[in-house]
Amino acid sequence: MSAPVLNMASRVATRLLPAARQQRLTILIYHRVLPQSDPMRPDEPTVEVFDWQMRVLRHAFNPLSLMEAVEALAAGTLPERAVCVTFDDGYADNETCALPILQKYQIPASVFVSTGFLNGGRMFNDSVIEAVRGFTSDSLDLRDLGLEVYPLVDWPARLRCAEQILHAIKHLEPHERSAVVGQITRDSTALPEDLMMTDAQVRNLADNGVYIGAHTVNHPILASTAAVQARAEIAQSKQQLEELLQRPVQAFAYPNGKPGADYRPEHRDMVGDLGFDTALATHWGAAAAASDPLQLPRFTPWDRTQWRFMLRLLLNYRRLDPLLGSS
Ligand SMILES: [Zn+2]
Repeated sequence: MSAPVLNMASRVATRLLPAARQQRLTILIYHRVLPQSDPMRPDEPTVEVFDWQMRVLRHAFNPLSLMEAVEALAAGTLPERAVCVTFDDGYADNETCALPILQKYQIPASVFVSTGFLNGGRMFNDSVIEAVRGFTSDSLDLRDLGLEVYPLVDWPARLRCAEQILHAIKHLEPHERSAVVGQITRDSTALPEDLMMTDAQVRNLADNGVYIGAHTVNHPILASTAAVQARAEIAQSKQQLEELLQRPVQAFAYPNGKPGADYRPEHRDMVGDLGFDTALATHWGAAAAASDPLQLPRFTPWDRTQWRFMLRLLLNYRRLDPLLGSS
């Protein structure tokens, strides 16, 4: 679709969807932007997909920086079809693949970094995915870990294997989970150590206008972490990023981010006590002026065609922040 067509289509659609005209904010959540499609990560956008998604945002929506949008939301001065782009975790491809596209379309963005994985670290899910990608045998027997025997005959089988392992271990205690992941990866050579950003990459994003927010140190599920430790995870990620960037870090994103399941009201209060003024969750919906600035909803785009992507984003404005209904 050409830019004028996108623009016209979104204007017509906005007439039909009054919610998109009201003071509502859609905050998109991304994790990675892949240099090319990857059979082990079918849900992540490639540079090609991310490029047209940002084109749609530029021509059919009003992209704002998170801070600008949060202020405008409170002041009642938000433009119609206001949208923010955010990334969680701190993947290196945010700097290598996403940044050039964000710059091309002049889209402001925020990246929420789990500081413990910077400079060569790897999140447990990536360790499992990369190990399963690399096994040379055509099956994987994990019965000694209380898991199963998984066929690895082709990419769909490998993807299923990684998904089943992740599903089985994601709710284990962190130390127990690391032990299982250590067993699974013990024979893996050459697991990537450049999946997450380096300090220099975080600085480069910040120097290019990307807002850097905190996302804990080790990405624990706060709801299943002792209070003292949860507080330290939140506080230390803020402090480490402030030291790295030499500027205040006032936005936070909850790991996994489902209210009630992944974090509780006490964690929301901790985030406020520690000096954050904006925090992002992952319950779906559009934020309104009455939304809690320390629990703003987000929305994960997944459509692979421009029309559907645009329409689904427009429909998101109708889905008022569900936390407002419950209070
Ligand atoms: Zn995360």
